[in-house]
Amino acid sequence: MLGLQSCQQNKPADTAATAAVKLLSPNFDADSAYAYIKVQVDFGPRIPSTPAHAKTAAYLVAKLTSFGGDVSVQQAPIKTYDGKTHQLKNIMAAFYPEKKQRILITAHWDARPFSDEDPNMGMRDKQFDAANDGASGVAVILEMARQIQQQQPAVGVDFILWDLEDYGSTNDETPHESTWCLGSQYWAKHQPTKAYKPLYAINLDMVGGSNAQFTQDEVSRKYAPSVMSKVWSIANEIGYGNYFINVTSGTLIDDHYWINQAGIPAIDIIHYSDAAGFYNNWHTQLDNLNNIDRNTLKAVGQTVLETIYREKPAAL
Ligand SMILES: [Zn+2]
Repeated sequence: MLGLQSCQQNKPADTAATAAVKLLSPNFDADSAYAYIKVQVDFGPRIPSTPAHAKTAAYLVAKLTSFGGDVSVQQAPIKTYDGKTHQLKNIMAAFYPEKKQRILITAHWDARPFSDEDPNMGMRDKQFDAANDGASGVAVILEMARQIQQQQPAVGVDFILWDLEDYGSTNDETPHESTWCLGSQYWAKHQPTKAYKPLYAINLDMVGGSNAQFTQDEVSRKYAPSVMSKVWSIANEIGYGNYFINVTSGTLIDDHYWINQAGIPAIDIIHYSDAAGFYNNWHTQLDNLNNIDRNTLKAVGQTVLETIYREKPAAL
């Protein structure tokens, strides 16, 4: 897998560019988001049916509740491709539930059970911290929730933390796509609230790696082109255009695919490009706290917060 590091050196410009633009959103605190990654990593890999998974679920429910969210957990026994059954926990939190016009922000909170992309063959059946692939998106959501409680946006905001996203099979002989994203698949087929229709949804996946570049994947472009262009243009305007790049990429089956199947336009913000593949430490032992970059957390968190705070409810 190729690294992306050689392509860009202009990190300090971000701060200057951001300072020049008047933001409607509160300041997204990247140190706070980083600390939320550390809490998750410290529980151990959040692998379904492990004590670390159970403890993290309890933590996330308590944290979102403490921020004023109306929290519920969607649970069901789910069979994974290896024949095991796990108790799915999709963690959902509604902020300002009385508001009719809403935005949905999601990320997966489970950790893949093994680092099967590690360059060292001997490590491929080992668990790993999943600091970026899982914990980063959750951490950005926690920090956004903290801010949203303090400053009310014009629209309501729902968060869903998906379980069992990353337990999929890479074996070409098993039906590939349907073994991933089991939490969002289940939700799409068993929505707890009938006729739930947020304006749109944004899924976050691997949003804490250094020099991340977020491309415009085919599923997002097909189902939610206006959402994608809105988010990418806000990112450019507020100084994060070197993360949210004007480059298309191919089909990715991530949680946003299943949100779209539920009839909600959804995009994915994910560290992936056709040229370089996923985040360079994807599914390896090196997906750990040492390789989390606060600058990327800031770029994503501030862009999504700004998108939320710019929404003005249309006349009903
Ligand atoms: Zn993954």
